[in-house]
Amino acid sequence: MDVGFYAWRSRLLDEVLPWDHIDAGVTKKYLLEDYQASLRGGTRPDCREHCYACGILTAFREEQVGLAVDAWGCPPIKA
Ligand code: SF4
Repeated sequence: MDVGFYAWRSRLLDEVLPWDHIDAGVTKKYLLEDYQASLRGGTRPDCREHCYACGILTAFREEQVGLAVDAWGCPPIKA
């Protein structure tokens, strides 16, 4: 087994990653955008001021049933 292949090599952006089966509710597209911004030295402004549709509201929609629309503190998603 080549440990370096699994532990140290650069990954392709469209590659299936070892941790892709872990679902934290945030989409891979969102994480990829954050990663690419970080390579440019950028960060996103606070999402409480502008929602980036990270995916968490969709992933955890059942947990929101019965709560106020703004219970999670996420502003309306803007295009
Ligand atoms: S405001 Fe909520 S849904 Fe929007 S990016 Fe932030 S955590 Fe995600």
